[in-house]
Amino acid sequence: MRKYNEQNINRSTKAVWAGEKEYRVHGASQVPVVHSVAYTYDDLDDWYEVAIGNKKGHIYGRNTNPTVESFEQKIKELEGAEAATSFSTGMAAISNSLATFLKPGDRVVSIKDTYGGTNKIFSEFLPQMNIDVVLCETGNHEQIEKEVRKGCKILYLETPTNPTVKITDIKRMVKAARQAGALVFVDNTFATPINQNPLEFDVDLVIHSATKFLGGHADALGGAACGRKELIEKIYHYREINGATMDPMAAYLIIRGMKTLHLRLKQSCDSALKIAKYLQSHEQVDQVFYPGLEDHPGHDIAKKQMRQFGGMLSFSVKGGLDAVREFLPQLKYANRAANLGAVETTVGPARTTSHVENTPEERAELGIPESLVRYSVGIEDTQDLINDLEQAMAHISEKMVAKR
Ligand SMILES: *Cc1c(COP(=O)(O)O)cnc(C)c1O
Repeated sequence: MRKYNEQNINRSTKAVWAGEKEYRVHGASQVPVVHSVAYTYDDLDDWYEVAIGNKKGHIYGRNTNPTVESFEQKIKELEGAEAATSFSTGMAAISNSLATFLKPGDRVVSIKDTYGGTNKIFSEFLPQMNIDVVLCETGNHEQIEKEVRKGCKILYLETPTNPTVKITDIKRMVKAARQAGALVFVDNTFATPINQNPLEFDVDLVIHSATKFLGGHADALGGAACGRKELIEKIYHYREINGATMDPMAAYLIIRGMKTLHLRLKQSCDSALKIAKYLQSHEQVDQVFYPGLEDHPGHDIAKKQMRQFGGMLSFSVKGGLDAVREFLPQLKYANRAANLGAVETTVGPARTTSHVENTPEERAELGIPESLVRYSVGIEDTQDLINDLEQAMAHISEKMVAKR
């Protein structure tokens, strides 16, 4: 039997318990939503000590809030970080974390397949501030190493990526970055702390969109950054001034969602592998992208750095965009929407979701077929989802034959 001590508490237990006790009041078993904008002090000396950070407490809602702090404690524990801070959205986590450390003349190395919004920061906003950004082929480790060796301030990674679920070897990239004196940021949104803890591979900062799997119910926006205290304090300072603060109600909903994160992911990941195999054997399907498939180029690396292969997959159907137009509306158990990581299965073509900002030529260059469908596996029964895909696929074949 595993001996009890705080250090070896499992992630699933942490998901339920971590970061909550200190924030409960009046004997309640749940963390309250504190909507107060400001906190009152009768003792001026006390007020001053809290305001300058010598004493624990809260002053103003843009800086800190008890409900939001409870969320920060939970994600910190789950990532095994020294500290964590929070944001209004995942994009705020990304943009604030980058802005905290970058100044004109700096250089950033990243990959072409980052999340659409992140890609816009790299291609549109950082160059505007005279920051040089080099985007490498996702999965081309030699190219990333070569660019990092030329010198850079931040190596920014995301693994697995959207929508073709490409994998980057975190350990190998950290080694290259250390030699160049660069900080390594990893967007861990797709894997979640249940499936992957980049800090175990010595990265400097783990970033999350809490809007996706962490919250899990597609009803709250949020973001987080986890890492060493010294880095998090700097990012927190930027964020408190910049004002990209997480809303306490969102924090509450995300805390509630995180309590079932491990259970939801187990179901989604188990289903995703079965669905990927089913799709691979379907005559109407052209290509399937899922790191759990042995022929996926990132499979071996994923096996080394992930505990499960995740709840996201994508596939292209034969017959191009016309076939997708026939297929998608037929699905009964999937929301056709831009989000992912929810309890409900969510689908969308890459050309209208993750890569809507790109031209068809750019998508082609990124290896994203126009008929690519992103499928975020929910927690429904696996066979029901396969049956649903089956009937929708049958519909394409019929329609396409009728048209011919
Ligand atoms: C959605 C997403 C983001 C952005 O998060 P928001 O909460 O929508 O701002 C960043 N990275 C990844 C991988 C995402 O999927």
